Amino acid sequence: MNEGIKEILRKPIQYLKGVGEARARLFNRLGIFTIDDLIKYYPRDYEDRGNLKKIIQLADGESCAFQGVIATAVTESRPRKGLSIYKLLIKDETGAIIATWFNQHYLKNIFKVGESYVFYGKISRKFRSFEVQSPVFEKVNKDGMKNTCRIVPVYPSTAALSQNIFRAAVSNALVLVSGKLEDALPIHIRTNYKLCEINYCVSNIHFPATVEDFNNSRFRLAFEELFILQLGLLSIKNSLQQEKEGIKFKPVDEVRQFIEELPFKLTSAQKKVFGEIEADMESNKVMNRLVQGDVGSGKTIVAVLALFKAVKNGYQGTLMVPTEILAEQHFKSIAPLLEQYGIKTALLTGGQSKKQKEHILQQIKNGCIDAVIGTHALIEDNVQFEKLGLVITDEQHRFGVRQRAKLSKKGDNPDVIVMTATPIPRTLALILYGDLDISIIDELPPGRKPVKTYIAESSMRDRVNNFIRKKVGEGRQVYIICPLVEASEEVDAKSAMETAKRIAAKDFRDLKVGLIHGKMKHKEKEEVMREFVEGRIDILVSTTVIEVGVNVPNSTLMVIENAERFGLAQLHQLRGRVGRGEHQSYCILYNESQSDISRQRMQVMEKTNDGFVISEKDLELRGPGEFFGTRQHGIPELKIANLYKDMDILKTAQKAALELLEQDPLMERPENKKLKDLIFQHFKDKLKHLSLN
Ligand code: ADP
Ligand code: MG
Repeated sequence: MNEGIKEILRKPIQYLKGVGEARARLFNRLGIFTIDDLIKYYPRDYEDRGNLKKIIQLADGESCAFQGVIATAVTESRPRKGLSIYKLLIKDETGAIIATWFNQHYLKNIFKVGESYVFYGKISRKFRSFEVQSPVFEKVNKDGMKNTCRIVPVYPSTAALSQNIFRAAVSNALVLVSGKLEDALPIHIRTNYKLCEINYCVSNIHFPATVEDFNNSRFRLAFEELFILQLGLLSIKNSLQQEKEGIKFKPVDEVRQFIEELPFKLTSAQKKVFGEIEADMESNKVMNRLVQGDVGSGKTIVAVLALFKAVKNGYQGTLMVPTEILAEQHFKSIAPLLEQYGIKTALLTGGQSKKQKEHILQQIKNGCIDAVIGTHALIEDNVQFEKLGLVITDEQHRFGVRQRAKLSKKGDNPDVIVMTATPIPRTLALILYGDLDISIIDELPPGRKPVKTYIAESSMRDRVNNFIRKKVGEGRQVYIICPLVEASEEVDAKSAMETAKRIAAKDFRDLKVGLIHGKMKHKEKEEVMREFVEGRIDILVSTTVIEVGVNVPNSTLMVIENAERFGLAQLHQLRGRVGRGEHQSYCILYNESQSDISRQRMQVMEKTNDGFVISEKDLELRGPGEFFGTRQHGIPELKIANLYKDMDILKTAQKAALELLEQDPLMERPENKKLKDLIFQHFKDKLKHLSLN
């Protein structure tokens, strides 16, 4: 029996009744190759064709199902060439309605007067016309109805593969597997979390008997999906921690002195997070910790404290950031702090001269340098550390798992911190970074004035330009951000090159306009940045290269062109470049889109400066697919659960996963074996990734 079901599930779809070779190819294109694929291909929607109404009850604009008797033969009219309209009168004991179809010649021979049919379609009831347009229909058959008289699934399909064919295929597949599917969820999990049995769920997710059956089934399948995801991520985390003996750093008294002498007092959030880091460092587990904190929350200093502690324990530490501009800025602010305490600090970037680099590499290798701040240049093969104990990556969403792992391999199980300003709702962070522990700096340093944000339209350009001029007149500096580097034929949006040229020649002829974008050479970028930092540029036109970390407190106004083209999280990052000094800062968003969603998104930016609120709103307005952009995170795709709507299920699944792993960390108990197999199946790729470690 066991072998039986496995074989059935593996069977190619073409052997399914009603499919065959040609249709199988159409299914293949949707990623469906086997019976198993087909039953796991869930409907995208449902139509309630089960609730049969009387003709008199049919309301205008609703999609309804009703049963009636064919009262007249089909009539045909041809109001113009190429258009044939077919009409049919249907009656029940309460009234009559006309069904209308266009160009469906075959209908003439189908309906016979006196026969009973069920129809489903959108009702239009206006003045004297009472119609249902292009309804779905099925002859009443006492042996059961497939396409009407029930809740009917709608599959994400193609035109060539009609819903009726799809439903028939699924229905035939269900007949083959019905009652034989084995439940991967152990009975204690099902009992504790009130989850229905698998055969019932698979059947009801496709053809729900009632709305309640659907809800039960969906709940269980979404739970299962999230549960497996969590179990997978948690097992990875456990195995990382168990396999490897980490460094046990000792407490360092000088850290307190270092904190005392900082030019500011740490916020309590910074203290809390550094406390979590210290606890990890002092344990012999390998630290894998994500530090999340909004733009400006002061993540850098927390990283510096950790570096300090590592170095004072006789280890080297490194901080990797995604851009050279940022590396240089960090180096300039961090090196003096550390050097006061005798910690030798160096900068390593791709833009340095060969000679410079060789010198630094030598010193990193022989241990003369204690702390290194750098870019991707750090992960190159020629970089060797004498005794690397701590690896920190900033803005980690820019780095892949591989890059992080490559840097870690330069030490002997060093502790790892990743820092990000991308505000991800906590529950989502738990999914995306289930393999990391999470710390959140949820407080900004005192005295920050929130950036004032306004939405503008193109008709307001003169006013905005006057405002720019006024701010420059007060001695401030301005960013103008454009989505494109250069003008494009395909994309109708402002480019940095054109904008810089235009305003330098026209609107702001008398001011100093600078330009920076990702296609410029390192040296050129650096030169422009230096001029801006030193106040020799009034208006800097830029692409999103400026997004990450750049700190010029005197710039207090940011104008963003085509703001509708950016994600809200990205707008929030960009906006974080202003509001860094004592002066009130402003952000102006040009919205060139007329859509409601766009307007709502811009209004979110106007209303709040809280990165977490913004990311939740973005998720709500655009959905998780777009929120995550390209699938760079490497988490398995979800088939049924929805990261936004199923937060509650996610939390429950997470709790269940933690409990299970506590009782059976390696999932060795017989009742958990099926789960373990499933996890291996789902995490094959991810596990491959991590074996690089
Ligand atoms: P982010 O979290 O965006 O990386 P930074 O670490 O760059 O933020 O900090 C932003 C600014 O706030 C820096 O100029 C930093 O010196 C300053 N800062 C950090 N912590 C505090 C604090 N506790 N009090 C006052 N200013 C702080
Ligand atoms: Mg930062």
